[in-house]
Amino acid sequence: MAIEEDVIVVGGGVAGTVAALSAAETGASVRLITHKKSTLRHASGLIDVLGYTPDADGPLADPFEGLDSLPEEHPYRVVGEDAIREGLATFDDIVGDEYHGEHTDANALVPTHGGAVKPTARYPKAAAAGVASDDRDMLLVGFASMTDFEASLAADHLDAAGVPFEARGVTIEFPKRFRADAKVTRFAKALDTDEDVGGRGTREALAAAVEPHLDGAARVGFPSLLGDDHRHEVRADLEAYLGAEVFEVPMGPPSLPGLRLEDLLFDALDEAGVGISSGNKAVGYETDDGEVSAVIVDRKGREIPYHADAFVLATGGLVGKGIDSSREGVREPLFDCYIPHPDDRYDWFVEDAFGDHPFTSFGVVPDDRLRPTRADGHAEFENLFAAGGVVGGANVAAEKSASGVSLATGVVAGRAAGDSI
Ligand SMILES: Cc1cc2nc3c(=O)[nH]c(=O)nc-3n(C[C@H](O)[C@H](O)[C@H](O)COP(=O)(O)OP(=O)(O)OC[C@H]3O[C@@H](n4cnc5c(N)ncnc54)[C@H](O)[C@@H]3O)c2cc1C
Repeated sequence: MAIEEDVIVVGGGVAGTVAALSAAETGASVRLITHKKSTLRHASGLIDVLGYTPDADGPLADPFEGLDSLPEEHPYRVVGEDAIREGLATFDDIVGDEYHGEHTDANALVPTHGGAVKPTARYPKAAAAGVASDDRDMLLVGFASMTDFEASLAADHLDAAGVPFEARGVTIEFPKRFRADAKVTRFAKALDTDEDVGGRGTREALAAAVEPHLDGAARVGFPSLLGDDHRHEVRADLEAYLGAEVFEVPMGPPSLPGLRLEDLLFDALDEAGVGISSGNKAVGYETDDGEVSAVIVDRKGREIPYHADAFVLATGGLVGKGIDSSREGVREPLFDCYIPHPDDRYDWFVEDAFGDHPFTSFGVVPDDRLRPTRADGHAEFENLFAAGGVVGGANVAAEKSASGVSLATGVVAGRAAGDSI
C-alpha cells in the first residue's frame, strides 16, 4: 500500500511530535513515524530551556538572559529567541493546566531525587508544591523497597544546597507489598485504583503511614508514583488525609512524568489529525532530482516506501540513536547527513569526567531553515529539515536545555517543512 503525505516526520520524542503539530498547523497532511519509545521514558518530564551558560554559570534565574552566552552554532542562536518562546507556547497549549511555569520567564528550581535543585522552565503540576523558592518546611518520603530514592540523603543534599526551608527525609514501607522487582507503574496503579489494604484504600493507608512523621511539615514529597490516570485525585486525597500539600519528586526510568507527557503529546497528535506509524524503523530513503521522495520503513522485514513532499528528521541524539558512534566515526544513520567530528576518537572527550566533552555537541549542522548541511555548507536535500537531539551545537546535558532545544527546533522545522510544499 503506497503511503503518501505532504510531510513525514521521523521520530516520536518531544522534537518529532512538536514538529508534526507545527507542520499540521500549516494545513499539511502529516504522518509521524517512530520506532521505539522516546527518551521521555527515561526523562524527568521537566522542560528545561537554559539552566547554565557554557561556562557553567548558573543556575540562571532567567534562561533568556543566558542566550547571548551561547556559541553561534547553538540551535538557539540559529532559530532565535522568538522560536524558543513559540516552542514554549506550543507546549503550553498541548499540556494545558497539567504543567506550571508559563506565568513567568524565570526558571523554577525543582528538587531532584538526588536532592539537587534543577533550573527548569516548565514542570508538572504534580511537582509544583516542591519548588525550592517556597520557604515552607518539607518532608520527603521514600519507600524501603525503592532504593533509587533515599529520602534522608535527598533532604541532606537539599539542606547542603542552602534551600530556604528545613527538609527532612523518612523511609517507610509502602502499605501494599509487591514483588521486589515491581516497577513504579505497579505502585501507581495501586494508588490509581485505591486498591484495598486491610479494609481501607491504599491512599488512606499510605497517609496513615506518613502521618506520624509529619511533625508540622507543610508539604510532603513522594517519588513520582502517585497514580497515573487518576493522579490528581490521588494527590488531592493524600492532601486531605495529611493536611499538607503533596508533590512528586521527578525520578529516573521508567519515569511516570515522562510517560504522562508522552501521552499528552500523542493525544495532541490525534487531535490534530496527524497519522502515526509506530513500532517500525525507518531504514533508508529514496531521492528524486536532489530531493528526498520517500523514507523506507522496515515493517516486519518488508521495506515499505512512505512518500511525502517534505521530511523532518527528529530521531534524537546519541541516546535516542539518531546519532551513531563507533570506532570508525560518528554518523547520522538514516540519511547519512554530515556530522563534523574530530578524526581521532581521543579528541571526542576531555580528561575531566564532568568536563566539556566535544561528543556532547555532535549532530547535524543546520542552515537557517534547519536543513542539515553538507561539509560545503549546502543543504543535504532541499526538502529535509531537522529538529531536536539530532541537531548539533548544544551541550544540552550541561546547559540543561534539552527539551527547550527540541521545542524550538521542532516548531521551526515542522513549519518550514509544511510551508515548503
Ligand atoms: C535520562 C534522560 C533524562 C532527561 N531529562 C531531561 C530533563 O530533565 N529536562 C529536559 O528538558 N530534557 C531531559 N531529557 C532530554 C529529552 O527527554 C529529550 O532527549 C530531548 O529533548 C531530545 O528529544 P528528541 O525528540 O530529539 O529525541 P528522542 O527523545 O531521543 O526521540 C527520538 C525518537 O526517534 C525515534 N527514532 C530514532 N531513529 C528512528 C528511526 N530510524 N526510525 C523511526 N524512529 C526512530 C526513537 O525511537 C525515538 O522515539 C532527558 C533525556 C534522558 C535520556
